[in-house]
Amino acid sequence: MDLRFSKEQEQFRSDLNGWLEDNLERPWIEELRDPENNEKTLFELRRSWQGKLYQAGYLGIHWPRQWGGRGLTIVEHAIFMADTLQAPPIASRVGINLLGPALIHHASEEQRQRFIPKMLSGEEVWCQGFSEPDAGSDLAALRTRAVPDGEDFRLEGQKVWTTFGPWSDWIFVLARTDPEDRYGGITFFLVPLDQPGVEVRPIRQITGESEFGEVFFSGALAKREHIIGEIGEGWKIAMTVLAYERGSMSLAHPARFDHNLRDLVRGVEENGTLERPDVREKVGRLLIENEVMRANGFRTLANMASGGTPGPEASLEKVFWSEYAQRLADSALDLLGFQAQLQVGAPGARQEMNWGHEALWVRAGTILAGTSEIQRNIIAKRILKL
Ligand SMILES: Cc1cc2nc3c(=O)[nH]c(=O)nc-3n(C[C@H](O)[C@H](O)[C@H](O)COP(=O)(O)OP(=O)(O)OC[C@H]3O[C@@H](n4cnc5c(N)ncnc54)[C@H](O)[C@@H]3O)c2cc1C
Repeated sequence: MDLRFSKEQEQFRSDLNGWLEDNLERPWIEELRDPENNEKTLFELRRSWQGKLYQAGYLGIHWPRQWGGRGLTIVEHAIFMADTLQAPPIASRVGINLLGPALIHHASEEQRQRFIPKMLSGEEVWCQGFSEPDAGSDLAALRTRAVPDGEDFRLEGQKVWTTFGPWSDWIFVLARTDPEDRYGGITFFLVPLDQPGVEVRPIRQITGESEFGEVFFSGALAKREHIIGEIGEGWKIAMTVLAYERGSMSLAHPARFDHNLRDLVRGVEENGTLERPDVREKVGRLLIENEVMRANGFRTLANMASGGTPGPEASLEKVFWSEYAQRLADSALDLLGFQAQLQVGAPGARQEMNWGHEALWVRAGTILAGTSEIQRNIIAKRILKL
């Protein structure tokens, strides 16, 4: 099997890296270190960086041109994801990675024209309103209701763990249009957050940030023209979203871990423990596991590059990267000791990696986008046919 990129893909990579050199003022980690920045300024930075990327043709890389994309393939998109890890993350990650595929597969042409370009440019930032206090793993238990109001609907209910809820302009919502039909009674709505009947409350996380929040609906307007698909087709569309949520980062995770591993190896060299057999074994195992992850990522990518959609193999990747991220961060805290626990910017802290933050943040990885237990159920049933 030849896993090398083609000449055109190598050219794309080199153009991208040239563009980054000219346009990226400083790495994201320096923005995080800058005491002048706060959550709001950092988010605005992400939004303006997204605008720049869009203008340069680096967003929607593998999406059709008629909706603002660049018409290349998923491989160029994966190269982009892997090579821009030092840059600010885009503001509309949830919109582009999750809602984007749902719009491409299920929306009307008018809806695609209306929503995709502004999503790509960052003019409209999106969040995902699926989970509720009593509907997470069992998503079909959701109770947010969409009550008919003339042509349109009014939303009543609550969403929770809504990533970027506090910063977003729009939310895509699963709401119940038929209380009797568990799966067929769910509809997929696009809803603006800035309107009466919507309240967004930030939730403070263990990292100290409020990246996500709760969204309360009390009579918010959900327009008929902003339903994706038909009334009652929400579950089917949600499945597209979830498959892309689990499978959209095939090469980005191993590339991110390359960076983290480099810092770990540098750290154990500096503290003189790399020669110890137990340390070498631990670091060696982490390096090998990252290569296993990359190989799996190539498999998903190859499937998608030949026209497939992410299937149950995305669950394999999800379990692997999320649990690996915890093993890696815990190992760094063990092997680098006190130095790794200091926040970036503190005297004596490591300069390239904020391991303390990483160790707290990666706890969420085995919960978000479907817990490890749920992924293992999927692997057991759909891959191993147990
Ligand atoms: C950082 C973060 C960001 C998130 N962002 C969003 C977002 O933007 N939008 C959104 O809609 N949601 C979001 N979520 C919510 C996420 O999708 C849910 O937390 C997740 O699906 C789990 O649901 P739950 O929290 O209700 O846990 P529960 O479903 O209550 O699960 C509790 C425990 O029971 C286990 N369990 C449940 N059912 C089974 C079963 N059948 N078999 C075996 N074990 C089971 C679970 O694995 C878990 O350990 C986010 C979550 C996190 C942590």
